[in-house]
Amino acid sequence: MSARPTTIDGARRQVGPELRIVGVIGSPVAHSLSPVLHNAAFAALGLAGRWRSFAFEVPVGEAAGALEAVRRADVSGLSVTMPHKAAVAALVDECSEVARRLDAVNCVVNRGGWLYGTNTDGEGFVASLARGVGFDPAGRRCLVVGAGGAARAVVVALAEAGAAEISILNRHRARAEAALSLAGGAGRVGEPSDLAGAELVVQATSVGLGDGRAVHPLVDTGVLHGGQTVVDLVYHPPRTALLAAAEAAGATIANGLGMLVHQAALAVERWTGRPAPVEAMWKAVSSR
Ligand code: NAP
Repeated sequence: MSARPTTIDGARRQVGPELRIVGVIGSPVAHSLSPVLHNAAFAALGLAGRWRSFAFEVPVGEAAGALEAVRRADVSGLSVTMPHKAAVAALVDECSEVARRLDAVNCVVNRGGWLYGTNTDGEGFVASLARGVGFDPAGRRCLVVGAGGAARAVVVALAEAGAAEISILNRHRARAEAALSLAGGAGRVGEPSDLAGAELVVQATSVGLGDGRAVHPLVDTGVLHGGQTVVDLVYHPPRTALLAAAEAAGATIANGLGMLVHQAALAVERWTGRPAPVEAMWKAVSSR
């Protein structure tokens, strides 16, 4: 079960001065799997009695207050989810290069009151490809559908992983053009006709969230075929219409749970300085 949301000061009162606290800030956050992942990692590392993760409901516009509370309550780190990633990038004391390029922070590390922000979404995505479907982007033709925060993180990471081509296909073309600089020399604005030739297709929009039936209007599932790897970053539901069609066409498929697990694993490593027990984290959420 996900942790019941509390306040940052409330969490400190609950555990006393000794325990290390981390958590996720977002809104709505009640159903976030992040505390489940973090606490599974702490248990597997033998840190369950010393570290605990909470869900912190932080309304839009209130990220600054949350970061003040992080300092006041001596919280060791935060995961950051919707709608706060851009706000937190502007509020932390220092940003990693990738967080600066994305203008988005999904992981805060409290270094004695100095808040360092980074972004583990893209690195987590590439790690999940290796663990989940055995796909290495180096030298491959990739199509990213979407140009929002998740898509931009994926584009940066695919470029860093050496993808040969990164086509960015988005409903509003101007946003795809704006994301091109993140892809280095490999980037170009995508067209629907790129789908058939892509070795990796990443669906990085909110289309399909909820009942999973909607498919992005620029994606013709009829051209999907065996030999392709198709990832839908949506994981609720776990099997969207896009993934069902891709599997029926013989493609290898994965949903967004892997990215969620691996970005959390990277956060645990930043906070504890220990290698994350990724398999235990996968196990904690794989039945959900
Ligand atoms: P975002 O920044 O708000 O971007 C939304 C994207 O969805 C844009 O590309 C937008 O296109 C597109 N879009 C929205 N409604 C659409 C529609 N009806 N038709 C076509 N395109 C539409 O959101 P985000 O943070 O990138 O999140 C995108 C998805 O990734 C969400 O489903 C989120 O749950 C998922 N996600 C998963 C993980 C994970 O760990 N698995 C992590 C982060 C996000 P326009 O630019 O044209 O509006």
